[in-house]
Amino acid sequence: MEQDRNHLIQHISRQGITDAGVLNALARVPREKFIPEHLLSVAYEDRPLPIGWDQTISQPYTVAFMAQLLKVEPGARILEIGCGSGYNAAVLQELTGSRGRVYSVERITELAQYASSRLDLTGYNQIKVILGDGKEGWADHAPFDRIIVTAQGPDIPQTLISQLKPGGILVMPVTRGFAAEMARLVKHTRQEWDITYHGAFSFVPLR
Ligand code: SAH
Repeated sequence: MEQDRNHLIQHISRQGITDAGVLNALARVPREKFIPEHLLSVAYEDRPLPIGWDQTISQPYTVAFMAQLLKVEPGARILEIGCGSGYNAAVLQELTGSRGRVYSVERITELAQYASSRLDLTGYNQIKVILGDGKEGWADHAPFDRIIVTAQGPDIPQTLISQLKPGGILVMPVTRGFAAEMARLVKHTRQEWDITYHGAFSFVPLR
């Protein structure tokens, strides 16, 4: 498994992921522990995999690409919308380190439980998972330094922008026709932000 993981990291870096911190984070998280057992043999192929309830664990390249856009600094407080398997949350915890905090919202009861148990099993038990509608963010723990949305929606929810600190960054795939454009929002002040777009991706819908 470790050898497969190293091959995957090499592949992702050849695909243009240059951030060493991001590559190291992916090298530390055991993706095989976050997928259904019958898919073990393809755990380190660079593709999304089904995790049940019509949802998927994202392709490793996409996880790395979003993490690179997010520019996580050690100690950051991070909100993830769409916990799914818990894998991306674990990668974010590696990036923010022991002083940082990762909060993750999931809409499907069984997946919130699945993610929590996988995160406990792999030692990422400091990550907090809550069942709810991610479009509402997580007001109790706001504001956040970084926000990542791992499902695609028609626009960036205003509530999430308001839960982002000035100076913070939010990354979310925004639906455009049949696919999504990866949006990166940088918040300057309470009222001012910039959004840039970083290529086409395909995600399950934010419901
Ligand atoms: N980050 C996940 C990827 C999961 S796929 C991983 O690493 O495995 C996207 C997830 O978003 C799904 O689990 C889906 O149930 C969830 N989702 C969709 N709409 C949501 C919403 N409004 N609030 C919270 N989660 C949502």
